[in-house]
Amino acid sequence: MTTRHAPGTGELAPGLSAPSVWPRSAVVAPGGDLAVAGVALSEIAERWGTPTYVLDEDEVRARARAWRRALPEADVVYAAKAFLCRAVVDWVEQEGLGLAVRTTGEMELAATRGFPASRMILHGSAKSPEDLRTALRFGVGRIVIDSDCEIARIAAQVPGPEAQRVMVRVLPGAGTGAGRGVGAARGQEFGLSIAEGGADDAIARILGQPRLELVGLHCQLGPGTADPAVYAGAVRRLVAFMAHVRERYGITPGELDLGGGFAVAYRPGDPAPGPAQYATAVLGALDDACAQYGLPHPRLTIEPGRSVVAPAGIALYRVLSVKRTGGRVFVAIDGGMSDNPRPALYGARYTARRVGRPSDAPMRAATVVGRHSEAGDVLAESVELPDDIRPGDLLAVPASGAYQLSMAGSSDMTGRPPVVALADGRSRLLVRRESFEDQRRRDVGL
Ligand SMILES: *Cc1c(COP(=O)(O)O)cnc(C)c1O
Repeated sequence: MTTRHAPGTGELAPGLSAPSVWPRSAVVAPGGDLAVAGVALSEIAERWGTPTYVLDEDEVRARARAWRRALPEADVVYAAKAFLCRAVVDWVEQEGLGLAVRTTGEMELAATRGFPASRMILHGSAKSPEDLRTALRFGVGRIVIDSDCEIARIAAQVPGPEAQRVMVRVLPGAGTGAGRGVGAARGQEFGLSIAEGGADDAIARILGQPRLELVGLHCQLGPGTADPAVYAGAVRRLVAFMAHVRERYGITPGELDLGGGFAVAYRPGDPAPGPAQYATAVLGALDDACAQYGLPHPRLTIEPGRSVVAPAGIALYRVLSVKRTGGRVFVAIDGGMSDNPRPALYGARYTARRVGRPSDAPMRAATVVGRHSEAGDVLAESVELPDDIRPGDLLAVPASGAYQLSMAGSSDMTGRPPVVALADGRSRLLVRRESFEDQRRRDVGL
């Protein structure tokens, strides 16, 4: 019993004009509700309970296609660690993307859908023996070398007769970051330094391993890099390093993998350049640098994760309590760091919108907190919510598709929320809610 709300027939919700924090299909439906892909969010909450995560399938696919269109000659490889389930494996495969994986679990899940291993790239700053075994058994297309100590280890395990293709992850310098956090670079612990010679040493070692074939250089810029010029700068330094490799070793790595890290808008007004803007910066820098060093154009790879899936996801919560104290309003929801550890891990902040009932109440700044009574369990601050907000109301949190459920735990034995796909006016369950029984079954000893 789904009421269909055709995209585009409703009033465009405030803040929904581009660049928006909501999926493109979002419209304000009658009664103050928000409909996504033709499905009212309040119906989702009724049918699947809360907290629940929804994914707008067309939004994921459109974002994947937008990257391919912006860089038609590049390999676009979806970073599985942003969020993976079997449906997403299929969508990514059907849209012609590769898959950047980090763990045995991700490789095994993709394999259940027959995702071709040749289109997988294994990366990771600390690959376990099992991860390497799985990657070599599957025959993943590329392994990204992140430290000296894995070179001989990988080489010794290559089943042969063909050499395993590898890339070297380098730190191109300024603007380099890692992980899934927010903002600029924090650590320099991932990758091999060009400046300090680590990258050079690794290349020499790889070239000394007949079972490894060096096909290119890889880098990963800070998560949420909203300035395309940062990518252009990395391209220039990487091409310069390619020229150095050619000079010193007589080979020219033919591939350049720029990783992911492309910014998305979590809150209205957050800068989030589109694929075309990143592509213009990257291709311009590549043209210039290749001309300067007399190098042929390397084949480009990008590995967007967040920018494909984050804006397609919405987290739906119910309000558990509303506290008005010291001139502030605290709205506690029935989820939090158990389904989204990003705020507690690195201070990420979101926006939220009440959905499901109309209201003429004035808007008032509120703080949205999770249910876990931890200081860091704060989802949104100074977010405008109707003053008549009360327990039982529904809150929708946009830009929730990446690094939330993929990093979710089971704080306080709450169980992880389900994932529901929305497409063509219908909802379907992709991942069911984690039940108490799921948790009890793991508890095997007394
Ligand atoms: C995390 C990661 C990505 C994806 O980053 P996003 O910010 O989700 O785009 C891509 N490549 C590598 C190597 C990563 O570690």
